[in-house]
Amino acid sequence: MARKQKRLGWVTTGVALGVTLAVIVTLGGRPQEQQPTATDNVAAGLPAPQRAPVTDGPVPQVPPAADPKPEWMRKLGPNEKPPQFVMFSFDGAASKAHWDRVLPLAQQVKAHVTGLLSGVYMLSDDQGGSYTGPGHDRGDSSIGFGGTRQDVSQRIGYLNDALAAGHEIGTHYMGHFCQGDEPSVGRWNTDQWNNELDQFFGVVDKAGKQGFKLDPTTIRGGRTPCLEGDWKAAIPAMKAHGLVYDTSQVSLGVTWPTVVDGVYEFPLPEVRVPALNKQAVMMDYNLWFALNRADEEPARAAEFTSVVVDTYRDVYRAAFNGNRAPLTIGNHFNEWAGGAFSAAVEQFMGEVCVQKETVCATYTEVIQWMQLQDPQVLAQLRSFPAARN
Ligand SMILES: [Zn+2]
Repeated sequence: MARKQKRLGWVTTGVALGVTLAVIVTLGGRPQEQQPTATDNVAAGLPAPQRAPVTDGPVPQVPPAADPKPEWMRKLGPNEKPPQFVMFSFDGAASKAHWDRVLPLAQQVKAHVTGLLSGVYMLSDDQGGSYTGPGHDRGDSSIGFGGTRQDVSQRIGYLNDALAAGHEIGTHYMGHFCQGDEPSVGRWNTDQWNNELDQFFGVVDKAGKQGFKLDPTTIRGGRTPCLEGDWKAAIPAMKAHGLVYDTSQVSLGVTWPTVVDGVYEFPLPEVRVPALNKQAVMMDYNLWFALNRADEEPARAAEFTSVVVDTYRDVYRAAFNGNRAPLTIGNHFNEWAGGAFSAAVEQFMGEVCVQKETVCATYTEVIQWMQLQDPQVLAQLRSFPAARN
């Protein structure tokens, strides 16, 4: 097959192009290599991508978007740019004060967000003994439990409001055992991940009997505690529990989600923090650590918010003007550094979701959109260089 030197349609990049494409397609779960010719690409109105996309294992499917669909939920036209997706996600997801601010804001700017629920917050403190984290003592949790029974029933209420408004709930697992809290999730084997997820789904089930309207089949992915985990051990357990995405790994710059071992991976980007001229994973705690080694300095809240919002803007611009890869913004519902990081996320949500060609969507919505695209278009998108700010 002839190499074709061709400019990428709408991506401006100085990277040498024209390397032959190898699309990995899956037939009956077994990967096979296909070599579409340059003429295939021309026929499809596509420029020739530059390297093989990372796609491995069968592509998981989610049900299509329900009607009425938003205008952007459709197949791209020839040479049309994808919308710039921004995915706001909140680990823990169990704070009334935060949902009380995020819900009206999201409604105002037509954003859908994803709450990654820590299942322990659906157990009242007196029910903590019903959870035994893999390798841990009964009733042990690094982040405590859900407070009083009243707290839990109030939580069911506001999480139901979030679901009714079109937001998504995924999992942040249960006991949040990070490195140092051994055996931490990074040491768990597949059986232990299965056990943790069994308990998470058990808690959701039990809360269902108390009125929690989260359909377990709509829990489609999650983020691991402290982004830790041995993926070879964790991914089989995710799949066994019907999860189709993970959003715990880190990419250098903003990249298109790939399918790794049959699960979509939506990475958190490592980016440049312009004010510090430092690289950091674009997540609240990591940004805090880059700012002042995560020291509690509430007096500097406004300064920190401004540094973080500027970082978000810069990274968004790089993606918008570059590969248009979905931008994952991960945060906890926290009051760290005087609430600086929550304020930054809320400010950015308010301004970015109303930008042209920009859609603030849930993980499932982005997967639904990807399912509507020609696989070769996705392969081409994945082949573009990461968006670096
Ligand atoms: Zn966490």
